Amino acid sequence: MKKIAPHYDNKNILVTSPLLPPLEEFIPYLENIWQSKYLTNGGPYHQALEAALAEYLGVKHICLFSNGTLALMTALQALRIDGEVITTPYSFVATSHSLLWNGIKPVFVDIDPQTCNLDPAKIEAAITPKTSAIMPVHCYGLPCDTDAIQRIADTYGLRVIYDAAHAFAVKREGVSILNHGDLSVLSFHATKVFNTFEGGAIICPDEKIKRRIDYLKNFGFADETTVVAAGINGKMSEFQAAFGMLQLKHVDAAFGVRQRIYQRYAEALAVVPGVSLLQADAQTEWNYAYCPLFIHPEHFPLTRDQLYQQMKDAGIYARRYFYPLISQFPMYKGYESSHPDNLPVASATSQQVLCLPIHPTLTETEQVRIIDIVLAASQTAAA
Ligand SMILES: *Cc1c(COP(=O)(O)O)cnc(C)c1O
Repeated sequence: MKKIAPHYDNKNILVTSPLLPPLEEFIPYLENIWQSKYLTNGGPYHQALEAALAEYLGVKHICLFSNGTLALMTALQALRIDGEVITTPYSFVATSHSLLWNGIKPVFVDIDPQTCNLDPAKIEAAITPKTSAIMPVHCYGLPCDTDAIQRIADTYGLRVIYDAAHAFAVKREGVSILNHGDLSVLSFHATKVFNTFEGGAIICPDEKIKRRIDYLKNFGFADETTVVAAGINGKMSEFQAAFGMLQLKHVDAAFGVRQRIYQRYAEALAVVPGVSLLQADAQTEWNYAYCPLFIHPEHFPLTRDQLYQQMKDAGIYARRYFYPLISQFPMYKGYESSHPDNLPVASATSQQVLCLPIHPTLTETEQVRIIDIVLAASQTAAA
């Protein structure tokens, strides 16, 4: 295959790169840990980060976890969800895996092409007597139609747990979207906009449910001699929590850089026929967590996979989030709801999407290199 733009330097560009403050800034935090000898189990940094994040995000209560997947699994346990849960196939596998780990059957519902989120108009048809909850994802950090989803949940007596792994700090009309539903789950994995190396959290509306979640993530211990549930070990360590405290000082600046990068992509690519980007509506304060580019096969000379390969050949590692659909993996493929006929929008979208590199350390030169590949591809004569 022809190499695009050989005059560029050949440094590899990854789709994401972690937010890492200067190392020397972290040293005092480590010294404090060494001094206190508190390594985990709800130590001072853990408490400080819960308080700081609740305030920063504008939420009532937050329970920190060692990762987002354990937080999802525990959220389902906390609300005693069982039977069937309606969810989206257009997400990272951890969304559905958390259901399987709880012995719950995922029921896949198609997405809305405008937002890539669960399409509320298609939820009701998937409800059965066994349905106990809906688990939507704020995909790419863009808010779900939370009002429509809540109306359905209220009508049918269902719980709503949002997988908000992409939605750190996202607001709508000035209010955190993490306050919707019964619980919301965050991920602080290295690849996310705010990271604690590994980490996650459950956002919860009241003290009572927070207490239950705190028991569940600590083996079910309510006090020294009382075990109230078959809990798990989901605790965030002091190292992670301390890093989170430091990250919080840098995250706003990182959002600013992300927004500028996104706008540059949007300006450069808006004019290109056959590709499109997502736009947050005027009410949404987005976190620019991802930059999904959609390649429309009938109007663009290359397929998504051809463009993906051209970028890869040029050292640019764009990612196909989300391809394959969760419903295509072997442990999900057998469900009736996994059939592509049930998921036409998700199936098409997953063939069209290419997430472009976006992270605070991406330089303008690197971004130009990425944009130039899309521009050159758009001018390729149709095969
Ligand atoms: C990252 C992610 C998770 C899993 O979080 P971890 O912290 O990596 O366990 C879950 N759901 C979605 C949508 C994610 O992107």
